[in-house]
Amino acid sequence: MPAQILDGREIARRLQEEIKKEVTRLQRELQVTPSLAVILVGDDPASAIYVRNKARACQEIGVKSDQYLLPADVPEETILRLIDKLNGDQSVHGILVQLPLPPHIEERKVLEAVLPSKDVDGFHPANLGGLLIGNPLFVASTPAGILELLDQAGVMIEGKHAVVVGWSVIVGKPTAFLLLQRRATVTVCQIWTQDLAFHTRQADILVVAAGKPKLITAPMVKEGAVVIDVGINRFEGRLVGDVDFAPVAEKASFITPVPGGVGPVTVAMLLRNTLEACKRACIA
Ligand code: NAD
Repeated sequence: MPAQILDGREIARRLQEEIKKEVTRLQRELQVTPSLAVILVGDDPASAIYVRNKARACQEIGVKSDQYLLPADVPEETILRLIDKLNGDQSVHGILVQLPLPPHIEERKVLEAVLPSKDVDGFHPANLGGLLIGNPLFVASTPAGILELLDQAGVMIEGKHAVVVGWSVIVGKPTAFLLLQRRATVTVCQIWTQDLAFHTRQADILVVAAGKPKLITAPMVKEGAVVIDVGINRFEGRLVGDVDFAPVAEKASFITPVPGGVGPVTVAMLLRNTLEACKRACIA
């Protein structure tokens, strides 16, 4: 039987409605508007689209968003000074630095400059370390979105074998830790993994974040598996994921499409983190 499609757009719409209600409540009761500062360096077209989507989503739910657009040759020091200023600005609750940064900028240094309490992207070492011990202030939006999709589909995670393809700091590793935290047995595969298909065929839950179109084909997937495709690739003039969608959908129980799967839920998670940052700042 073909898989049920996990409609990320619909799930994100419902989540954003809930977040919007909470934003309105904060405005009414505390006269506070959650605010997100987004720093974009350079003119990478994909990054510009992501930033625009995030700004639009903020606007739709009443979160204030300010964009800081810096030229590609901006000195690292200028970015660090801007982050320092935003860290100290009490009206800013979340700070997001759009990745990737140009090669002359040390990405880690920039991400570590963001206060952990404003790190709504969850990339600061304090938040990544918090994930390891099961208690982060913020979980990165894409991994959080993947877990949200599984929960919304009613997928039982405990005791299941989850296989994560890709071990990046922003997707693969945090996703693996979140699944471990939910008591899955987790296998992490990466580019050096030998016989990838051997591992993916054992997955009850298969999360793919490699950035390689059609990396996962139907023979690599177990009958009834839940398949979460994180990849975003431009391939033969259109956007596709890492999974060979149509044949894999014939075998899986649930599958996310690309576009319209993980992406929109990722944006909703960023909004949720920004709301959370604002609430914590109000309590503090
Ligand atoms: P990355 O390049 O940092 O990491 C890719 C990972 O895939 C690496 O760990 C690498 O070892 C592994 N890999 C590559 N080829 C492989 C192969 N043949 N077999 C096994 N493993 C392989 O990328 P990333 O930042 O983690 O992003 C991965 C993909 O997810 C990209 O397509 C990116 O655009 C997409 N992405 C989507 C969202 C979203 O919101 N939907 C968010 C972040 C990233």
